[in-house]
Amino acid sequence: AKTIPSDIEIAQKARKKPITEIAGQLGLKEEDLELYGRYKAKINLNSWDCLKKRPDGKLVLVTAINPTPAGEGKSTVTVGLGQALNRLGQKASVALREPSLGPNMGIKGGAAGGGYSQVVPMEDINLHFTGDFHAITSAHNAIAALIDNHIHRENELNIDPRRIVWKRVIDLNDRALRHITVGLGGLAHGMPREDGFDITVASELMAILCLAKDLDDLKERIGRIVVAYRFDRSPVTVADLRAQGAAALLLKDAIQPNLVQTLENTPALIHGGPFANIAHGCNTLTATRLALKLSDYTVTEAGFGADLGAEKFIHIKSRVGELKPDMAVIVATVRALKMHGGVPKDELKQPNTTALRQGIANLEHHLETMKKFGLPHVVAVNRFPTDTEEELELLQSWCEEKGVPCALTEVWGEGGAGGEDLAEEVVRLAESKTPEHRFLYERDQPIRAKIAAIAEKVYGADRVAYSAKAEKQIAECEANGWDELPICIAKTQYSLSDDPALLGRPEGFTLHVREIHPSIGAGFLVALTGDVMTMPGLPRHPAALDMDVDAEGQVYGLF
Ligand code: ADP
Repeated sequence: AKTIPSDIEIAQKARKKPITEIAGQLGLKEEDLELYGRYKAKINLNSWDCLKKRPDGKLVLVTAINPTPAGEGKSTVTVGLGQALNRLGQKASVALREPSLGPNMGIKGGAAGGGYSQVVPMEDINLHFTGDFHAITSAHNAIAALIDNHIHRENELNIDPRRIVWKRVIDLNDRALRHITVGLGGLAHGMPREDGFDITVASELMAILCLAKDLDDLKERIGRIVVAYRFDRSPVTVADLRAQGAAALLLKDAIQPNLVQTLENTPALIHGGPFANIAHGCNTLTATRLALKLSDYTVTEAGFGADLGAEKFIHIKSRVGELKPDMAVIVATVRALKMHGGVPKDELKQPNTTALRQGIANLEHHLETMKKFGLPHVVAVNRFPTDTEEELELLQSWCEEKGVPCALTEVWGEGGAGGEDLAEEVVRLAESKTPEHRFLYERDQPIRAKIAAIAEKVYGADRVAYSAKAEKQIAECEANGWDELPICIAKTQYSLSDDPALLGRPEGFTLHVREIHPSIGAGFLVALTGDVMTMPGLPRHPAALDMDVDAEGQVYGLF
C-alpha cells in the first residue's frame, strides 16, 4: 500500500487558485466578495437579493452510523464527494462547519476533511480563519459583562444573581474554567457570584448564527435569548437588557458565509460550527442556502451519526430554512461496524467478518430511519487502509441483498477520483428518486410527545423517563409558552441509546431525560440525556504540544 503523507503536508502542496477564480466558477463577481487575503473571502449577504429567485440545486446530506471516537470520515467524504461530482462535470460545492480551536489543540482531528479530501488553506481554517469564532466569543462575553454591570448598578430588572444562566465562553478546552467565582475584591468590583465558561461552539449565539436568515432575524433571535431569571422566576432576555443591537453589530461580518476551496479547487462554504449535542451541529443556513443557489449539487454534513446530526438537520435546520434535502449519504466504516459487533477499540485493525456481520445492525437501523424521513439514500463505505477485501465485500453484498445503493469510497487516499462511484450513485439517485419529506413530529405536539417521537422512531427506544428536575422544567416551559419549539436532544454519539456502552442496535431501552434547557433565541428546547460536557478538557498529551511554526512561517503539527 502506498503511504499517505500527513494532512498538513498534503494541504501545503495544494495548487490553490485565487479565491476570486473560485468565486467566478460559481458566477460570483468581485463586488459580491469581501476578500480576506488571496485564498479566503466572505460572500456579501446582499448578493442573496439577486440570487434568491434562482432555482435551488440538489442538496445532499452526508451523515453516518454511530461513530468510533476517531470519527468515521463524514467531513472527508463530504469534501471528496464534492470533488468527485466536479470530476463528473457537475457544478458542485461543499458546505461544512468551521473547526473549533478547542479540539484542535486537544485531540488529533480537525474538521477540514483528511488525506486528499481536504479544504484549504487548512492551517487558516483550523486556526483563526476569518475571525467568526472570535466575534461570537466577543458578542457572547459582551452580553455577560452587561449582565454583571446591570446587577452591580441598581439591578432594575430584579435579576436573581443565583439564576443567571448566561455563562462566559472561550474557544479553547480549559476544564479549570468550568466553575469559577466572579466579582471578588470588594464593593467596587461587582457582585460576587458563581459563574463558569463554556467553549464558544456551545454558545447559543453560535446556534443562532447558524439558523438566522439575515441580520434582522439574527438580532431578533439574540433579543429572545433567556439569560437569567428574576426573583419571581420570570425570564430575563437579552432584549430586556437592550443588548441585542451591540451583539448583532459584533456579528455583522461573522454572519457572511466564508468561501474557500478543496484540494481540487471545488468551492467550499465553511461557516458556523455549533456543538452537535447541546445545539444542532450543522453549518449555517445562510451558507447552505447560498450554495444551493450557486451550484447544481451542494454536499453538506451534519455532526455525529444520523440519530443526532441527520435528525436535527431535518427537524431543526430544514424546518427553519425550508430546506428539502434530496438524499442522504450514510458513511459507514468496517472498523466502526466491527466495534458495533463487539470488537474492543484496540482490536479494530484485525480482520473479523463475524463481528462485522453482527455490527451491520447499526447501519440497518439508520437506513430504516432515512426511510421514515422519506429520504433516498446511499451507503458510502469509507475505506480504511486496514480493511480487508473480504470485509469490504461482505458489507457491499449485504447492501446489495437489501437493495440499498452502496459505493466503495476512497476519497481519503485518492481524492475525488476515489469518489466517482459514489458521485455516480448520487447523480443517479437525484435524477431517479423524489424524496417524500416527512417530519417525525410536529412543533405543536406536547413536549413529551415530541421527545417520545425522536426516542422511539429515531433511536429505537421503548420509553422515555424524566427526572423530577426535567418534569419541573417541562412545566415551566409550558407556563412560559415555549412548548411549541422543536427539540434538540443532547445524547452520546456512540450509541443509539443514551448509554455509550450499548453498541450495535440496542432494543428495549429507556431514554433518560435529565434536564430541559430552553434555547429560545436559537428556537429549540434542549433535552439533556446523560452528562453533556459544554467545556471540554485537554487530554494527557494535547495536540498543541506537537505544534510549531518556524522562522519562515512553515507550520508543523496541525495533524
Ligand atoms: P467525521 O467528520 O466523521 O468526524 P473526519 O472526516 O473528520 O470524520 O475524519 C476523522 C479522521 O479520520 C480524520 O483525521 C481523517 O483524516 C481520518 N480519515 C477519514 N477517512 C479515512 C480513511 N479512509 N482512511 C484513513 N483515515 C481516514
